[in-house]
Amino acid sequence: MSRRNTRKHLQEGLKDLRLPTMRGSVQQVAEQARADSASYEDFLLTLVDQERDARRQGRIARALRASNLPLEKTLETFDRKRLPRKVDAHVNVLLEGAFLDRCENVLAFGQPGSGKTHLLCAIGLELVHAEHRVLFRRCDVLVQELLAAKRDLLLPKLLKQWGRYDALIIDDLGYVQHSREEMEVLFNLLAHRYERGSVMITSNLPFSGWEEIFKDPMTTAAAIDRLVHHSVVLELNIPSYRLEASKKQRAA
Ligand code: ADP
Ligand code: MG
Repeated sequence: MSRRNTRKHLQEGLKDLRLPTMRGSVQQVAEQARADSASYEDFLLTLVDQERDARRQGRIARALRASNLPLEKTLETFDRKRLPRKVDAHVNVLLEGAFLDRCENVLAFGQPGSGKTHLLCAIGLELVHAEHRVLFRRCDVLVQELLAAKRDLLLPKLLKQWGRYDALIIDDLGYVQHSREEMEVLFNLLAHRYERGSVMITSNLPFSGWEEIFKDPMTTAAAIDRLVHHSVVLELNIPSYRLEASKKQRAA
């Protein structure tokens, strides 16, 4: 076969096999391999690596979009020196991602502005980059979604859909007062995820205040019991970042 014919067939074949990255770079990689007198295996490996890498990037980009995570709350922009030493050590372990396989939960407590949301989002983003599936929801939005699904008899479908995520981040549990029906769907979600997948929660309210959230003592105890059974608790007993930042600004 003439070289031109070979190229044409190769392009068609790679298109059929859905290897777009290889298709785009095979010519240039082949020329480089000839110039370097590279082995056939090295030539092929370069192409395979490029294809794998491009696919991985694509998967991560899609997972980031699906996660609904705020992309600016990264670990790079988070000042870990503010964290209590014990919390910082936990963060290192969480970043390894093994807690997801064990369906362990993460509970971040602290006053407003202490960095709970930023910290859990930063961990979430790192986990997505390590190819774990993460979904972020503000608690009030999540509750409304659950209610709407229940109304349309789609609750089992929604729970199944969310079941595909390794971690569900529920931000600001207890911040908005909810009705009994709203709390019921939230409790059902927590019960459904128990030992099926991780839940990562931020809350300004310590457990002692959770009866306000779940309304009755039995439901509250059951919710706490399920969440705490396999869990890492991050106590951010630190001042508000915003408050400190504005104080510094004023001082300067
Ligand atoms: P919380 O969820 O505890 O109320 P946030 O995570 O929303 O607090 O933090 C409040 C603001 O301060 C956000 O803009 C956040 O990015 C910033 N912030 C908090 N802690 C830190 C930190 N350790 N390093 C950098 N920015 C922080
Ligand atoms: Mg928050």
